[in-house]
Amino acid sequence: MTATEIPVQTIAHWAAGTDFAGTSGETAPVTNPATGAVTGRVALASAEDTQAVVAAAKAAFPAWRDASLAKRTAVLFNFRELLNARKHELAEIVTAEHGKVRSDALAEVSRGQEVVEFACGINHLLKGSMSENVSTKVDVSSIRQALGPVAIISPFNFPAMVPMWFFPIAIAAGDTVVVKPSEKDPSATMWIARLWAEAGLPDGVFNVVNGDKTAVDELLVHPDIKAVSFVGSTPIAKYVYEVGTSHGKRVQALGGAKNHAIVLPDADLDLAADSLVNAGFGAAGERCMAISVAVAVGDIADDLVGKVAERARGLKTGDGARGVDMGPLITRAHADRVSSYIDAGEEAGASVVVDGRGVTPVGGDVADGFYVGPTLLDDVTADMSVYTDEIFGPVLSVVRVASYDDALALVNANQYGNGTAIFTADGGAARRFQNEVEVGMVGINVPIPVPTAFFSFGGWKASLFGDTHAHGAEGVHFFTRGKVVTTRWQDPSQRGIDLGFPQND
Ligand code: NAD
Repeated sequence: MTATEIPVQTIAHWAAGTDFAGTSGETAPVTNPATGAVTGRVALASAEDTQAVVAAAKAAFPAWRDASLAKRTAVLFNFRELLNARKHELAEIVTAEHGKVRSDALAEVSRGQEVVEFACGINHLLKGSMSENVSTKVDVSSIRQALGPVAIISPFNFPAMVPMWFFPIAIAAGDTVVVKPSEKDPSATMWIARLWAEAGLPDGVFNVVNGDKTAVDELLVHPDIKAVSFVGSTPIAKYVYEVGTSHGKRVQALGGAKNHAIVLPDADLDLAADSLVNAGFGAAGERCMAISVAVAVGDIADDLVGKVAERARGLKTGDGARGVDMGPLITRAHADRVSSYIDAGEEAGASVVVDGRGVTPVGGDVADGFYVGPTLLDDVTADMSVYTDEIFGPVLSVVRVASYDDALALVNANQYGNGTAIFTADGGAARRFQNEVEVGMVGINVPIPVPTAFFSFGGWKASLFGDTHAHGAEGVHFFTRGKVVTTRWQDPSQRGIDLGFPQND
């Protein structure tokens, strides 16, 4: 690997335990969305640069696979302690490049840390099984082994948590890792790479290739990458799944979402309104588990809309580092796109109850930031683009329906199936909903039902390609493969040639 000089403010790659500038010469701007200022330039890997990073992961694999479980988990414990002590630093980086408010950035780091803690206990989950004397003096054991170098390709909206859904488990299982962060906010992953080095992880076990489609495409076809964990939008998730699997890789590709919250007539409307505001406008709606559709059942819609509107109007939008409720969107282009969806909804007949277009942001140097304020649309119907498309912004649409059955039919007809929630005081209705809804993660009076690390995270339908969800037992399964060993220690008294097929006699 020939690392060329790294210009000041350029975010390089990370390979074999050190910065690696690569040779492509291509970079992209990294921006603070709160101010619009360009704060760095991230290297965009060529195919050759990507190959160099994969080579580092390949070289480190045999020794890491063969490191004892005790050694591997000791490094994980070190990493957990360092992360816990310094998570504010990581949260600051997340806010500076993503824009979400500090408390939310810290929460994302803490949710990622939960996966590190889960992976610290991987020894129990890597235990195989064994049966003695399946045939005369023959024992069979089943073991799970590491895969090799694996790739993790992540989106912009959780630059710390989403990579952490995967790499702690992969590393604990004995795999080596190449992370390809979003080119919009790559610094969190680079900070994590340095933390791993401090924690004593051997060089080459955790690597980072920065870049765009070129880097992703190389990872998808590279013969040394054995598995790909992808999180991003549905069209790219589908592409990654198809290309990766056609090149013989194990792929889990988590895609986009349109999450509905059903509010039944017997629900506590204040609790439901609080939840809708938190889940609709938190992180400016840039969460794959954001609630973007409130389905008001029966005659509660006027009350519900009034309560949500009152709360939404009270939110402060501005620089997430300065104590506001809601930060900016990731880019100007994205903010413009979100505004154009609101225009389209209005033109199609939705009522704009709270309008975030042209919001005046607060706090500091925000004039050139990428802001859309909380927006509430009422009388939305299933044919409008604000309903059909994932907007990924602070836009909450209210769809009015007559009955539970209409609400359920609406959710189940949607192409996505990531998360959903129901608000009700009726346990029977909630239980029926959990059984009937075609969505991977369900909240009952819980608006953002993100499973804890020892359960698995993942949606259904166009929200996930592949059959394995992230972290929990499914994550351990994804990052290991099974082997079955049949053993017979020959008894000298049983010597002799027998060409027959081995059988139980
Ligand atoms: P994105 O699909 O644009 O990008 C995701 C990753 O793919 C990035 O690393 C990007 O560099 C790469 N990429 C982009 N275009 C590519 C192409 N043509 N070929 C190959 N690689 C490409 O997604 P985003 O805008 O960064 O993130 C937002 C999306 O992620 C939303 O749709 C959101 O719902 C989804 N998301 C889903 C989950 C989930 O768990 N299901 C979690 C977080 C985000």
